[in-house]
Amino acid sequence: MEKIVSLTKRRGFIFQSSELYGGINGAWDYGPVGTLLKRNVKDAWWRAMVQDREDIVGLEAAILMHPMVWKASGHVDGFSDPMIDCRTCKKRFRADDLDGAICGQKPSKKPGKGGQDFCGGDLTEPRSFNLMFETALGPLSDTSAKCFLRPETAQGIFVNFANVVQSSRVKLPFGIAQIGKSFRNEINPRNFTFRSREFEQMEMEFFCVPGTDDAWFEKWVQTRWEWYGQLGLKKDRLRLRPHEKLAHYSKATTDIEYLFPFGWGELEGIANRTDFDLRQHQRGVRTLPAWQKEGGELTGLPLADEEAEYHKGKLSYFDDEKKQRYIPYVIEPAAGADRATLAFLCDAYDEDGAPDANGKVETRVVLRLHPRLAPVKAAVLPLLRKDGHPERAEALYKDLRKRWMVEYDESAAIGKRYRRQDEIGTPLCITIDHQTLTDGTVTVRARDSMTQQRIPESQVASYLQDLIGLP
Ligand code: ATP
Repeated sequence: MEKIVSLTKRRGFIFQSSELYGGINGAWDYGPVGTLLKRNVKDAWWRAMVQDREDIVGLEAAILMHPMVWKASGHVDGFSDPMIDCRTCKKRFRADDLDGAICGQKPSKKPGKGGQDFCGGDLTEPRSFNLMFETALGPLSDTSAKCFLRPETAQGIFVNFANVVQSSRVKLPFGIAQIGKSFRNEINPRNFTFRSREFEQMEMEFFCVPGTDDAWFEKWVQTRWEWYGQLGLKKDRLRLRPHEKLAHYSKATTDIEYLFPFGWGELEGIANRTDFDLRQHQRGVRTLPAWQKEGGELTGLPLADEEAEYHKGKLSYFDDEKKQRYIPYVIEPAAGADRATLAFLCDAYDEDGAPDANGKVETRVVLRLHPRLAPVKAAVLPLLRKDGHPERAEALYKDLRKRWMVEYDESAAIGKRYRRQDEIGTPLCITIDHQTLTDGTVTVRARDSMTQQRIPESQVASYLQDLIGLP
């Protein structure tokens, strides 16, 4: 992991947020190539989930939402982690995530066992800690102005369910997909970008007819599992983990996990959320007048009204075929853009040997990223900084960059320039030399095999297109 963290900093993938001021815990900045990589991950998700399907539409909801949303969804009362303090070293830990937690002052007692003994310190009883960041809307800071930074993008989808149904031609089963920032005041942000306080999610809520939900759940687990494999993650570092203990809203949940250098970690959770969220918002809307009367303070939502009442509410769906109104069930594949990006980086990292200018084999660091995810698709390199090489190379570069992210580099010895591109995962290097000027051919060098081949300059674009496949 240290090697990956250091490469990502050195090459401009990921920097610590506010590093200039000593950093801030749990927030990360993506540098020039990291931004491209993460954008490619999100684009690949969007293509698979929205563009390449007829049954899913997109949405971009605001981060700030009405506070009642979080009351109704259960986050105000229940979105918390058990927190414990160590009286010896004053550090805070998540009580359900003590594996590897070590008291800063005392040596651990039973390494590998997990739990209190491993921590070694003098621990308090767990206390519940709500993970939502609070802020205030406008200049008033009384309770009615209180609002939250969203801890998940999903609720923005649920509260827009009726808007989407009314404004587009969607019919059950259909999905609404969204990519966006979420915020959680994690007790213990760690493992690089894996657990951050500000992160980006890629979530889709798939609404279906009650009774068809189990089959759709299985289908989505399979579809999402395949997506990671198609983009190159090694199958033996991926696993499915069905949950035994379920969240209050869930009928079934399966996580897709990846074997990071620090151990298995969740990339994505697929949950059968039943009709829980739409029902809760139906209740939330009914409760709103009371909530406003009490100045934004409300201890609970009223008990469920008559079953029949729900079916008439704003968030129910009229089924034309069945001539019936009901609340759909929801299957949710919820992925993290930062975690996926980190997994692709870890999986791609490799070291092998490459000969230097004198033929001596040196260690080469190479990111074997899937070409679709590679931040830069090709580098155009004039062999010399004279004899017309730069002009010819620049013309090719300007032509290719209209279609792809391409770099031009004339700065160092050719071997060094190759190495730099290997480190950021560029699949192809195109070299212009004296022969190009006489017969119009260029050398293309493949990142993974390091093999070189001469092809006509006029074929470079189609060669690259074949290599990358879909954008
Ligand atoms: P964990 O158990 O790791 O805290 P979770 O089960 O609470 O995660 P979900 O609520 O299912 O996570 O969120 C869906 C996805 O959002 C996760 O699979 C993950 O990819 C991403 N995600 C959640 N919390 C974080 C975080 N703190 N930092 C980065 N990504 C996150």
